[in-house]
Amino acid sequence: MAVERDLWRLSAAELQRGLLAKEFSAKEITESALGRIAQADPEIHAFLELTEKAAYKQAARIDEALSQGTARECGPLFGVPIAFKDNMNLEGTHTTCASRMLENYVSPYTATCVARAIGAGGIPLGKLNMDEFAFGSSTETSAFGKTLNPWDRERVPGGSSGGSAAAVASGMACVALGSDTGGSIRQPGAFCGAIGVKPTYGVVSRYGVVAFGSSLDQVGPFARTVHDAACTLNAIAGRDPLDCTSQESTVDFTANLAEGVRGMKVGIVPAFMEAKGLSPEVRHKVEEAAANLAAMGAEIVEVALPNAQAAMSAYYVLGPCEAFSNLARFDSVRYGYCDPGHKDLGSQYEASRTIGFGSEARRRIMLGSYLLSSGVYNTYYYPAQQVRTLITRDYNEAFGKVSCILAPVAPRTAFKFGEIADPAEMYLTDMFTISINIAGNGGMSMPVGPGEETHLPIGVQLIAPAFHDELMLRAAAALETVYGPAPIAPDFDGLNDNAKAGE
Ligand code: GLN
Repeated sequence: MAVERDLWRLSAAELQRGLLAKEFSAKEITESALGRIAQADPEIHAFLELTEKAAYKQAARIDEALSQGTARECGPLFGVPIAFKDNMNLEGTHTTCASRMLENYVSPYTATCVARAIGAGGIPLGKLNMDEFAFGSSTETSAFGKTLNPWDRERVPGGSSGGSAAAVASGMACVALGSDTGGSIRQPGAFCGAIGVKPTYGVVSRYGVVAFGSSLDQVGPFARTVHDAACTLNAIAGRDPLDCTSQESTVDFTANLAEGVRGMKVGIVPAFMEAKGLSPEVRHKVEEAAANLAAMGAEIVEVALPNAQAAMSAYYVLGPCEAFSNLARFDSVRYGYCDPGHKDLGSQYEASRTIGFGSEARRRIMLGSYLLSSGVYNTYYYPAQQVRTLITRDYNEAFGKVSCILAPVAPRTAFKFGEIADPAEMYLTDMFTISINIAGNGGMSMPVGPGEETHLPIGVQLIAPAFHDELMLRAAAALETVYGPAPIAPDFDGLNDNAKAGE
């Protein structure tokens, strides 16, 4: 029986090998994944909606192709269970962005990244929880309840793609898609011990992904092996005429994973390693990863990113400005919750937006509205764009010397629910990830085992030059030979007895 064989534990590569060897069917894979969700999701709450019918339909297509001997032609994700962050449209599903505003919105079309993942043979399991409209770092701002960190249920999974990270880390989905505007793939990847890849801006189409900051947003995969992440990227990358910022993709992201790092120059940023707020156990893990890369033949080189410390300030100008503009469409007429019974449009707008948006979304909208108002624009928005140019130049200069950069992802491991109440303090959890969105190049989180102090997952960040995401994946694959693939969180009954007793 499929579930007894725990097919949900297998990587995409293992699933595909087993399918081709006729050891099990795509239908059994689907049963196993849905069985795992039924077992684990009542505890974790990663899913907002399941797409069982679509999953079985796809499984039937794959099984038919297997019987014809044409499974590989289905694409790089054939037979691989995949789930999607709930800001990605999938026709016929709710796409809520975890907001009351879109609680009843049903997608009339499918996002390009989702269509490509399913078109490449992925088995769609459903839609995943997130911070409301992707504003946040803990998934606590979801209007539909929090997602729990599979390693410790008293802690956040990170955010905003917390559902995606938790689903992969608990074995409910083999791979998942998330989106990253300032760190929202990499930080939850680090907190849950999953691989999370934010490719270079332009690698994956944003068409059909509900926009937060259009010049910063990028879609990417979560997985438990570097190969699976690269395979998923192969499926979703490439030019899409419906997103004019998307680029042709000519690389096979899996091609040089086994090449190792001999002779590769890997940068370390001293200012990151000395940053105030970086916990000793995270710093230790980055140093350990650097030593491991060096032992495998990489040359570790210090590089400076002198303007990176201004990235956070620039982001909290540019992000809210773009969010303010993008969220204007949720006005109760074109889209979104409509508060009934109003006689004039002004009061309908006001009431609908006040009720429909949560407090963090309202904070960003008000901030963006202020920053873009006349008189203020020149003081904040314009300088923030100048900072953006400086940071991009810093990265270009650094990548003249090194092939990729090694850094922390987040300054610390997963925090407890409610532990960080001050929004400004929450924003600081992205201090090492934001400059990459500002510059537009690629970054990923690679799990390197638990911290010595908190015993919670830690990820190191690998940063690549723009449109050379294959370099960070290659360095990550080298680290994987040392640390192993990302483990599935141990089962909830054993590990979290304390949390249970406290309920
Ligand atoms: N935590 C950051 C924010 O709240 C980044 C979010 C994201 O990448 N979507 O803006």
